[in-house]
Amino acid sequence: MSFDVAAIRKEFPILSQTVDGKPLVYLDNGATTQKPQVVIDSLVNFYTQCNANVHRGAHQLSDEATRRYEKARDQVATFINAAHRNEVIWTSGTTEGINLVAKGLAQQLEAGDEVVVTEMEHHANLVTWQQACLQSGATLRVAPIFDNGELDLDTFKASLGPNTRMVAFPHVSNALGTVNPVKELTAMAKAYGALVLVDGAQGIAHGDVDVQALGCDFYAFSGHKVFGPTGIGVLWGKQSVLEDWPVWLTGGEMIADVTYQSATWGALPNRLEAGTPNIAGAIGLGTALDWFSNLDIAAVQAHEKALIDAAMTQAADIQGMRLIGTAPNKIGILSFVMDNAHPADIGFILDRQGIAIRTGDNCAQPLMHRLGINGTARASFSLYNTLEEVSAFFAGLRKAQTMLG
Ligand code: PLP
Repeated sequence: MSFDVAAIRKEFPILSQTVDGKPLVYLDNGATTQKPQVVIDSLVNFYTQCNANVHRGAHQLSDEATRRYEKARDQVATFINAAHRNEVIWTSGTTEGINLVAKGLAQQLEAGDEVVVTEMEHHANLVTWQQACLQSGATLRVAPIFDNGELDLDTFKASLGPNTRMVAFPHVSNALGTVNPVKELTAMAKAYGALVLVDGAQGIAHGDVDVQALGCDFYAFSGHKVFGPTGIGVLWGKQSVLEDWPVWLTGGEMIADVTYQSATWGALPNRLEAGTPNIAGAIGLGTALDWFSNLDIAAVQAHEKALIDAAMTQAADIQGMRLIGTAPNKIGILSFVMDNAHPADIGFILDRQGIAIRTGDNCAQPLMHRLGINGTARASFSLYNTLEEVSAFFAGLRKAQTMLG
């Protein structure tokens, strides 16, 4: 199979838009990815053909909705190579998945216990653990990074110990693009019997995630970052760990028996999925993952590497541009600051040229402070971006520099 970026782009209707008369150059894929027509169609089909609640209707629409919804769970399980379909818990996104785990663990943590995160966390994987520690009296340890955005593995290892209960880190940093050695980090944590949660928000769309091979206990991701809808995500957890995981949301769907005085919980996956789920979103995500799986992933990765390589090369020619995040193993995220130009101004001028990037603290304020900056401008690439768009971005940047300089 080969990778035809022009053909891929045709599958994404939004990419043919113009912004103020300029062709849209969408380079904010770290924030959210665009959706192929098949995903949009699957949402429309659901609402036009079989909208009904799942698992409870005594009618055909509900049966069909349930069939499609549960098929989507299978599609996720296949995509991430889960050992069992009931290890796939629907959430609203990465943030909720991490909260589900942290709120559960907070019920068990005690003073003396330790949770280890890294300096490169998105707020979703920092504040959540910080609060769990504050509530329970446990200690939060923050493993440092080097100035290039790479995790300091020796110090990470030294941060672990017999009191470590949970180790949580990103597969890929949203602010730096650093790809962490998940297997290696997991093995270090497992040497102390700690649980491991991987924040997969940025990792899921850039490679072949195999949760069994990674060896972690939890992997959380969002549908919208992997060509699926917003408002749907997945927490994958090992069945043996999830089975007894404390529930944090209670209500319909998740119970076995209820009296006015007490309740017992149902079996996985429903025991961790209280309330009516995002049915259309789950179906849309299943479609997105199937669509993605049908691509030649090695060719996709090679294309994305060509984009970031081209961007790094062209960045070297821009005077006064400093890249934030230059770890040897990084994916298509180009964060940077420029002399005499505030990121917000850069973003504004690029937007006037139809080029969409992210500016600000990247939801990682402590990381920005660690790096001695307040924020960055960030271009993030996806499989449908082209080398021409990379060049258009740098042309736009030069213009911004002239206007602001
Ligand atoms: N973790 C990382 C590394 C992210 O990049 C993001 C979103 O940008 C999140 C967590 C949170 O994802 P969501 O807002 O979809 O829950």
